[in-house]
Amino acid sequence: MNYNNLFSEINNSLNKKKAQGKVASYIPELSKVDPDKFGVHLTTIDNKHFSIGDANEKFSIQSIAKVLSLTLAYKIEGEKLWERIGVEPSGTPFNSLVQLEYNNGIPRNPLINAGAIVICDILISNLKSPKSDFLKFIRELSGNPTLDFCSRMAESEKITGFRNVALVNLMKSFNNIKNDINIVMDFYYNLCSIEMTCKELARTFLFLTTDGIDPITNKKILTESKSKRINAIMQLCGFYDEAGEFAFKVGLPGKSGVGGGIVAIHPNKYSIVVWSPRLNKKGNSKKGMRFLELFTTKTKSSIF
Ligand code: GLN
Repeated sequence: MNYNNLFSEINNSLNKKKAQGKVASYIPELSKVDPDKFGVHLTTIDNKHFSIGDANEKFSIQSIAKVLSLTLAYKIEGEKLWERIGVEPSGTPFNSLVQLEYNNGIPRNPLINAGAIVICDILISNLKSPKSDFLKFIRELSGNPTLDFCSRMAESEKITGFRNVALVNLMKSFNNIKNDINIVMDFYYNLCSIEMTCKELARTFLFLTTDGIDPITNKKILTESKSKRINAIMQLCGFYDEAGEFAFKVGLPGKSGVGGGIVAIHPNKYSIVVWSPRLNKKGNSKKGMRFLELFTTKTKSSIF
């Protein structure tokens, strides 16, 4: 099937309405992004490509990177990981503190900020040069040796990261952070600052469509069981307190970021990435969610 025409058809129908939602402004650097950027890229497991709009323009992937840091930590630690992080949907905003207090500093899941910060701590304890080792991992996955952190974005987050600092301190008080909190937060802000295009992201996530084996290089990234479990976590926790809504309307495992990106996986078929920076109140891309809803509806490709 050639999806390019369908992409234009859906985009045209969405453009008939006035654009809604606002670009994330709590990170100063993110507020500079053109709100009307829009790109989609779909990559099939047999390496066919379909795209529309700004699919080859780099954007800040933000929390989408949390799936990649989780992948590396899960590879290293195995099931021991779940002694320090849960696998339950939080039903709260991505930067919420409340559940940590009564869960003894154990985050509900690895895709909210608290959980991703613990994952950073685990990677720091296990890697020789955490930032460059992580970059090496995603450069291999994406097939792009030039992928990098964006120091301007990381710095911008650091200046306004009051809630994230509160999260890491609270978890440290429960002894669920083992390293120096400044080193952990430096890794976290850099993780969120990574820039990729829709096309690069779709390529990078392909291993989760095919039971952990990269279908282009045939390299085993994760075991089948671990790949299945990361998909399950994306399905239940990938959209914070809107994970139910995404399952209900789109019906694919996926992950969003406050840069306006969304990646979604159709097991054994394709990965698709949408980028549209205007966010809804829950911090997910407004047009991105609607686009994916229409896409899976018209192609009958929800997994349910
Ligand atoms: N870097 C962002 C933060 O820590 C990530 C949030 C997101 O994309 N949901 O607030």
